[in-house]
Amino acid sequence: MRATVMFGAGDVRIENVPDARLIEPTDALLVVTHAAICGSDLWPYKGMPPSEEGRRMGHEFIGLVEAVGAEVRKIKVGDLVAAPFAWSDGTCIYCQEGLQTSCLHGGFWGGTELDGGQGEAVRVPQADGTLFKLPVGRDDALMPSLLTLTDVMATGHHAALSARVGPGKSVAVVGGGAVGLCGVIAAKRLGAGQIILLDRHADRIALAKEFGATDIVSERGEEAVARVRELTKGLGVQSVLECVGYAESMLTALSIARPGGAVGRVGVPQAEVMPAINSFFGNITIAGGPAPARAYIEPLLPDVLEGRIQPGRVFDWTGSLEGVPDGYRAMNERKAIKALVKF
Ligand SMILES: [Zn+2]
Repeated sequence: MRATVMFGAGDVRIENVPDARLIEPTDALLVVTHAAICGSDLWPYKGMPPSEEGRRMGHEFIGLVEAVGAEVRKIKVGDLVAAPFAWSDGTCIYCQEGLQTSCLHGGFWGGTELDGGQGEAVRVPQADGTLFKLPVGRDDALMPSLLTLTDVMATGHHAALSARVGPGKSVAVVGGGAVGLCGVIAAKRLGAGQIILLDRHADRIALAKEFGATDIVSERGEEAVARVRELTKGLGVQSVLECVGYAESMLTALSIARPGGAVGRVGVPQAEVMPAINSFFGNITIAGGPAPARAYIEPLLPDVLEGRIQPGRVFDWTGSLEGVPDGYRAMNERKAIKALVKF
């Protein structure tokens, strides 16, 4: 079968790889219908050392179940299912607590051992716990928005929950990539009163305003902090969604949170050290991490199905599997916010 393999920075190819197949009795075999390229796929695209073997890519996908192992009970052949960016058994203590990204028997797609979503088919471990059956057909117009539930919309929602967004609260979203834009949607959905987006790209800003951003701050560093304070009577915001992961963006996030506020961080940290600036004396809560997308599909699904949120609008590039290397390039060059792959 054909699948996306990354061999080093800037080197993504579509290769022939061994066909996905059932191995464990708890596996399902999925034929992928839709996949996405994630902002986090760009981290290795920017910096992965050369590798002979390469690394299979893709962790946001929807597909049709083609076969199931003998111990799979809930998922059936023919089901159209969404696969969250982590796989999980659905039964361990962390899964029961709704933290499937820490599943004792789970893990993450791709790499050197597992299939990735940017390929024709995927062996899905722990199929009953991992997969979520969608109540629509594969050609449904909502498919782009449903696909975001596997990662970016769930991650934006996680940032908002971690930042304790609630009715009437002041919120800032640091970074207007696909996750940040979904963070704006999530903040609005949870009733935020003011939503300030920190970003400088015109395409993202336009979409953020449609999603509910009330103010835009395009300055950076100390100037951005000063501007957010101007917009919040000098106080700072109650909730900050950190959707980038760089040291500078985390510093900005902590600097614009007002005392007693919370920062929900979902950008994969690219720095080892957490800045101590006002976060201690301001009693600022720092929470977040990889979103348990599996737990959020169910609560977010009705809003997608009934059109109250349209996170699929973050996709502004669509291509085929063979076009995936172009999708990476477009996202890396900031010519696209997010790429959708149709099979
Ligand atoms: Zn588990």
